[in-house]
Amino acid sequence: MQARIEVGVLGATGMVGQHFLKFLDGHPWFRISWLAASERSAGKRYGEAVPWHLAGAAPDGAAGLTVEECQPGRGPRLVFSALDASVAGEIEQEFARGGHVVVSNSRNHRMDADVPLLVPEINSAHLKLIPLQQRQRGWKGMIVTNPNCSTVTLTMVLAPLKPFGITKAVATTLQAISGAGYPGVASMDIVGNVIPFIGGEEEKMQQETQKILGDYMASAGEIRPLPAMVSAHCNRVPVVDGHTVTVSVGFEKKPALAEVLEAYESFRSIPQERQLPSAPARPVVLMQEKDRPQPRKDAERDRGMAVFVGRVRECPVLDYKMVALGHNTIRGAAGAAVLNAELMYSEGLLD
Ligand code: NAP
Repeated sequence: MQARIEVGVLGATGMVGQHFLKFLDGHPWFRISWLAASERSAGKRYGEAVPWHLAGAAPDGAAGLTVEECQPGRGPRLVFSALDASVAGEIEQEFARGGHVVVSNSRNHRMDADVPLLVPEINSAHLKLIPLQQRQRGWKGMIVTNPNCSTVTLTMVLAPLKPFGITKAVATTLQAISGAGYPGVASMDIVGNVIPFIGGEEEKMQQETQKILGDYMASAGEIRPLPAMVSAHCNRVPVVDGHTVTVSVGFEKKPALAEVLEAYESFRSIPQERQLPSAPARPVVLMQEKDRPQPRKDAERDRGMAVFVGRVRECPVLDYKMVALGHNTIRGAAGAAVLNAELMYSEGLLD
């Protein structure tokens, strides 16, 4: 067996950092050899530094590592970032400047014009921004990001329908509490309740969706955003894991319902063709049951990497409507970043 590539995790002690450790445990290509967090955790063994919040114990190999400060040059070339957004922007840039490949889950650089906001099934061509990014910024390293946890589900719902000419999409989320990190929303606020506001989330969903579904224009060396209007309503609901998103979508010319269903059934892309280790067999799973998908029953299926779509039907306002579900801390965070790194490896970007 080929030697695995050593990887590090920035922000390893946080909620998403823990998901990175869990998701990468036993990964066939990557092996965690370096963990970093704030000075509060630095110098401690990971097992002592972290209040482990996930089911099961922290993976043995990583639990014995000593947490370091986030300084470039000390860890391996490839680092995943799960840093708090208040510090991620600057630290990730320092690492890229220092020659590291930063595969980030934080929001800070997602909308930078020269930074790919990657969903491997949708926009692998956006990796062509990397040479420009390195040239413009004078970096030997690079930054690649994954979308917000609700955006990834919305874009997976829309991507198979892009050939029909999407003009409008209205999305309403029912977002799990794990998306707010730990301890997240106070139990007194969320038990038996719905909170119809998540700061900055609606803007992120709207802008990120247009960028992800946009086209890479080789002549201009830029992404031309999808020219569709996107409106998001974001709500926090008392669900532990799994963001549900209901979507209404309008087209330039309305396709037949059978064409929409076929677009979902047949949707496969590069991660499936290349059999990337974390790629789900079917990125979008079309459900036939009248009351699915449901977070408790479906979020964990396919290792949390597929997006489930159901109830595809006519919409009296736009053209069609449907309901979708994605695992917010896996496909919406750690798993998304790992799949990005696998795509980058398969493109020779980690050589
Ligand atoms: P979190 O639990 O608060 O963890 C934040 C991490 O950043 C910890 O490892 C923390 O280290 C580290 N950190 C904080 N200040 C630092 C500093 N000054 N220097 C170095 N490291 C520092 O946050 P999270 O929920 O895992 O989220 C991490 C990132 O992912 C955020 O940008 C968030 O927006 C994004 N995100 C989260 C989710 C989700 O479902 N939770 C989904 C998508 C995206 P210490 O433990 O040492 O303080």
